[in-house]
Amino acid sequence: MSQQQDFLRDAMRRLNLTRDAFSARLGVRRRALDTWLLPADSSESRSMPEMVERFVAEILQHESRNTDGAASNAPQRPLVQRISAEGKPQLLSVSQFDRDSLEDLFRVVDVMQPVARRQKVTRVLEGAVLGSLFFEASTRTRVSFGSAFCRLGGSVCDTTGFTFSSMAKGESIYDTSRVMSGYVDVLVVRHPEQGSVAEFARATNIPVINAGDGPGEHPSQAILDLYTIQREFSRLGKLVDGTHVAMVGDLKYGRTVHSLIKLLSLYRNLKFTLIAPASLEMPAHLLELVASHGHVIEQTPSLEDGLRGADVVYATRIQKERFAGEEIEGYTPEFQVRKALVDAVCKPDTILMHPLPRDGRPGANDLSVDLNHDPRLAIFRQTDNGIAVRMALFAVLLGVEHQVARSMRDAGWRSPSLVGPDDAVFDGLD
Ligand code: ASP
Repeated sequence: MSQQQDFLRDAMRRLNLTRDAFSARLGVRRRALDTWLLPADSSESRSMPEMVERFVAEILQHESRNTDGAASNAPQRPLVQRISAEGKPQLLSVSQFDRDSLEDLFRVVDVMQPVARRQKVTRVLEGAVLGSLFFEASTRTRVSFGSAFCRLGGSVCDTTGFTFSSMAKGESIYDTSRVMSGYVDVLVVRHPEQGSVAEFARATNIPVINAGDGPGEHPSQAILDLYTIQREFSRLGKLVDGTHVAMVGDLKYGRTVHSLIKLLSLYRNLKFTLIAPASLEMPAHLLELVASHGHVIEQTPSLEDGLRGADVVYATRIQKERFAGEEIEGYTPEFQVRKALVDAVCKPDTILMHPLPRDGRPGANDLSVDLNHDPRLAIFRQTDNGIAVRMALFAVLLGVEHQVARSMRDAGWRSPSLVGPDDAVFDGLD
């Protein structure tokens, strides 16, 4: 049944159709399509008739002939080759993706979901070891990469902070990277300097994933953000093409928004409203890149104006740790994304996102906790999706993505279907 959901979701993604348009194309009622897309454990979920499945497969085949012409019969190169960095299976920047390779990755992410959600287990990476090197603070990224690797059957060795690593004794990135490559099969690295993870990658032939290089990039976060947007939009009957995204907060040092705006630029006709204090605006080279793809960009210091009518609000934390004694001007309490403002200027189907952590200290002006019971808040759906996304990245970089579906067994233990006490608010959204 989850295969049925994956198949339909993937078809809609490829055809770039909303649920309404897809059901019209198939000649079925929207309600029928909704029941085929429901999670298998929902009492309302139904199997789609075989005839429909065949029809969808035919449409997909026809469409790929139309878009690719004669080349359609040529075998696609493996995904890992199409996204490689200088010929190596490494993920350093989202610039390694185009829209096709991204959507191929999302198909692998869908396959991972039953394992990420603890209904199934797989051991495709049994015996493999992940080296997790975090030279900067992290909770989510470090633990979710580790958990994703373990759920594929691998094991994790890690080191955190400079103090307990040999870098504190003056060891170079080159030496650390080469030494670790003899110990582990893949490296996930976070480091405070922009470009440092690429330096790790140059010193090794094993896969390296950039888990955040200072204010540079955070590719896995942006991929999980975009995957979440697509999933939420599928439920809401929207497409990423033509959408309005508001980004709020520290757009200068926030690496997650740097990666996300690049990925979103692969889609068509977007409108971005960028809301930041004057000293924390999005870097000019990213504005140029977005504009060169024909998207509309508006910059404003007014939260109220910027959020009005947005389909996605992406809030970020002020990255104080990156300020070299700079003062931030204009970062006032009016800057906080709070429920009263969201109710006043956003739509009932706006989604509210944040890469987390939210700064909850007094005066922080970050995404407000008074939105915690609002179903538009997608932050925990983002973190949950992060596991499946990171599993998919490991599987692709290590070349086991095609083994996962046939290796799955039922999980031998029981876990709650809703992992958080407040998740019921969001139940049935999928
Ligand atoms: N966790 C994200 C990052 O590492 C966002 C943040 O720290 O504000 O970039």
